[in-house]
Amino acid sequence: MTTTRPVIAAQPSVPTTEGAGVRLRRVFGRVDPRLDPFLLLDDFRSDDPDDYIAGFPWHPHRGMETISYLLHGALAHGDSLGNKGDLGPGDAQWMTAGSGIIHEEMPRQTEGLLHGFQLWANLPAVHKMMAPRYQDVPAAEIPTADLDGGGTARVICGQIGGARGPVRDIVTDPTYLDLSLPAGARLRHHVPSTHNVFAYIFEGEARFGPDAGQPVAAGNLVILGEGEHVRVQAEDQAARLLLVAGRPLGEPVAWGGPIVMNTELELQQAFAAYQDGTFLDRP
Ligand code: MN
Repeated sequence: MTTTRPVIAAQPSVPTTEGAGVRLRRVFGRVDPRLDPFLLLDDFRSDDPDDYIAGFPWHPHRGMETISYLLHGALAHGDSLGNKGDLGPGDAQWMTAGSGIIHEEMPRQTEGLLHGFQLWANLPAVHKMMAPRYQDVPAAEIPTADLDGGGTARVICGQIGGARGPVRDIVTDPTYLDLSLPAGARLRHHVPSTHNVFAYIFEGEARFGPDAGQPVAAGNLVILGEGEHVRVQAEDQAARLLLVAGRPLGEPVAWGGPIVMNTELELQQAFAAYQDGTFLDRP
């Protein structure tokens, strides 16, 4: 017998302001053992430039990863390694800050819809000071898997339906799927029982768990409990959702803004280094 992961929490995303004044919805942003190794998920979606134009000017990251996935619009990024690039519809960027990166993430549009997500993943102590790395993935390199029970999955990281995502060699062994399920579709997907799993519904509604309980509407986070399989159903309505899994770290977290370490001392050292200009020096 294999077990299906139950719903252990369902909760709405919350409007907030981030960066230089970007209005977005925070799906979660806290230390939660049920979400470990993930720390934060933001959903930015607006066709009003006043909501997004301020962007995310130059700021540092250390000890963690930021995963950006764009559905509509254009975002430009530039970083302290000299990388410059644009994210367009369907593109993803898996940025491993490691020992330190300073970057900016700015909208490249002054009108129209901008919609995307940014996920933060923690790094374990032994990898917090690893060399920084980008995996930039254009939409054309993200495979779309046809699912046996109906619908499709864009596979950014991990495997489903014979497709394997282009983002590789991430220490927390994550899965990152963008699922499109038409009404009536049923998905049963294996995730290692050691991993934590959550879903974020952003269109329609979906049901989860062994008895496919109450539908969960767009804008809500669903945290799944222990088990071997994830079960998702779209019933009367189609659904679109992110399904994300990763191996928990189980380590102490000292988190200050864009820097995530294990101890307060490491956090203070990081901010001191940013002030005195040595933040980017490799240890
Ligand atoms: Mn950033």
